[in-house]
Amino acid sequence: MTERLGVDIGGVLIDRVNDDTDTSFFGDNYLRTTAVPGAFDALKRLANCRFEDRIHLVSKCGPRVEQKSRDWLDHHDFFRKTGIDPANLHFCRKRQDKAPICDSLGLTHFIDDRLEVLSYLKTVPNLYLFHPTPGEVEKHARHLHRVHRVETWDDVLAALMQNQSA
Ligand SMILES: [Mg+2]
Repeated sequence: MTERLGVDIGGVLIDRVNDDTDTSFFGDNYLRTTAVPGAFDALKRLANCRFEDRIHLVSKCGPRVEQKSRDWLDHHDFFRKTGIDPANLHFCRKRQDKAPICDSLGLTHFIDDRLEVLSYLKTVPNLYLFHPTPGEVEKHARHLHRVHRVETWDDVLAALMQNQSA
């Protein structure tokens, strides 16, 4: 099976640590919102060493945040730095809408900070729950058995680079 990786944006690429500060992604200074540490380098490595041109970004948001996300990715030179194809950027409006996108792209791996989102991805065999909030995990805990928990991009690399069958 050809391996294809899907990656969420909010809370996985764009750091929630900015929330409630003057660099919040939801404020006027959204271009200054910081990336999750190590995200760009890790994705570049995953592209070079395993997934090649088969890494996709899949984000759920409204039209305004979609535009801000596109601006942020451009401003931070994301596609050049990671080597990911700008055409591999997908947006949807509802959390459950990520599932048909993952299905049609044939994704085999997905990284998201929301357990609820991962719970919808029935066609994706390898699910990674990235630095989730405790409250969200508690609410959807019945799906925890399907996911691998990771806290950092180093954890992602450890899971995906050392064990090529995971
Ligand atoms: Mg997210």
